[in-house]
Order: sequence, then structure tokens, then C-alpha cells
Amino acid sequence: MSEPLRIKLDRTLCDGFGICARHAPDYFSLDDWGYAVLVGDGNIPEQHRDAVRRALLDCPVHAILEIGERRPDETPIQPLREPDLDQLKTEDNEAEWGFTR
Ligand code: SF4
Repeated sequence: MSEPLRIKLDRTLCDGFGICARHAPDYFSLDDWGYAVLVGDGNIPEQHRDAVRRALLDCPVHAILEIGERRPDETPIQPLREPDLDQLKTEDNEAEWGFTR
């Protein structure tokens, strides 16, 4: 079974090309000015995923975003390192590291 598809529409990005409404009219409609409106709560059932994904990929301004639980990178976050105080550049040692005013 494939992962669930959840989307959201950033209407501030929409330029009103209407491609999404053509690909997936059950999930996108156009308002009176031709800008997209998301129909429903953004949860896309499996049988409509291809059409909605097509709309997502074809939107020229990337106004349709996939949201999900997946993290693209599972690399653990590295802890911050303490600075090496002996290497710290200060006014006291500026002659050593070559700072000029
Ligand atoms: S395809 Fe993108 S730009 Fe075009 S109407 Fe849909 S959301 Fe807006």
C-alpha cells in the first residue's frame, strides 16, 4: 500500500493558470478571478493520487505542496561544538591573525 498523500495550496503563490483544476477537478476549483481553491481537506484517496500529483508537478509556481510525516533526510542533527578559545580572533591577538583596519 502506498503512503497517504496530503496536500495544501498556497493561494498567495497561485498565478491562476488553472492547470490544477484541469488535472484534478475534484480537488481544485477556480474562483471568480481564476485562482485555485482547494476542495476538501487536502487528504487525497489513493484512486485520485495520480491526477493530484500531476497537478502538483505541473503547477508552474509550485503553489501546491505535499505535506506529510516523512522526513526527506533522517540524518541525526549534529550537536553544536564548543569554539576553540585558543583559535578565537580577538583584538588582543589581531596582530597574529592579520586583521587591518
Ligand atoms: S496550477 Fe498552480 S498556479 Fe495554476 S491555478 Fe493551480 S495552483 Fe494556481
